[in-house]
Amino acid sequence: MNIVIMGPQGSGKSTQAQLLARRLKIPCLSTGEIFREISKEETALGKRVKEIMNGGQLVGDKTTLAVVKKFLREPKYQKGVVFEGFPRNLFQAENLNLKIDKVFYLSLSHKEALKRLTARRICKKCGANFNLITTPPKVRENCDLCGSELYQREDDTKEAVLERLRLFDKQTKPVLDFYKKQGILQEVDGERPIPIILKDISQRLSQ
Ligand code: AMP
Repeated sequence: MNIVIMGPQGSGKSTQAQLLARRLKIPCLSTGEIFREISKEETALGKRVKEIMNGGQLVGDKTTLAVVKKFLREPKYQKGVVFEGFPRNLFQAENLNLKIDKVFYLSLSHKEALKRLTARRICKKCGANFNLITTPPKVRENCDLCGSELYQREDDTKEAVLERLRLFDKQTKPVLDFYKKQGILQEVDGERPIPIILKDISQRLSQ
């Protein structure tokens, strides 16, 4: 079963994709995560990706598709995959060349997305995700798991978030139409609590 989780930044797509992947016992493929790892590398590609990400822009389609296809050749992805953050535009959707079974679109207003994203924090040491509004750490600005300090992603500033939301409208919405035409798109209200959304998606998958 190949699934795509879509939604504007801050809609909780990463959380939902991870929970769903665990529930279905298939891996989650997050291009955002992959590019964050690549951006740490002291290579030409690493530096280029870092610059693009910090400006809130998208990595080139050729690079993105090559990276995704390389991952998909690994044995663990053969039973199925939950995509998160991919495909980001029509070109990526049309050139994936993999049968997608279901697409879930987590809808969220831009106002709420901005509020949530600028409240997002990540642990410096273990990478755990928190949100000062939706999933706050127990001790303010410290990781629940390892106690280390939390930081804000460089592309979670107001300016970069607004640019990503603008890009989302322009480039990602045509992808929704692409999947809608295939009859595999399901719209899910992304403003509800995490467990309720997961239950909704799971129910729709078993229908
Ligand atoms: P995300 O964590 O999904 O918000 O992704 C963070 C950043 O990684 C984006 O702002 C892009 O710069 C890059 N990125 C992630 N997925 C893609 C993709 N499918 N195509 C191009 N760039 C991507």
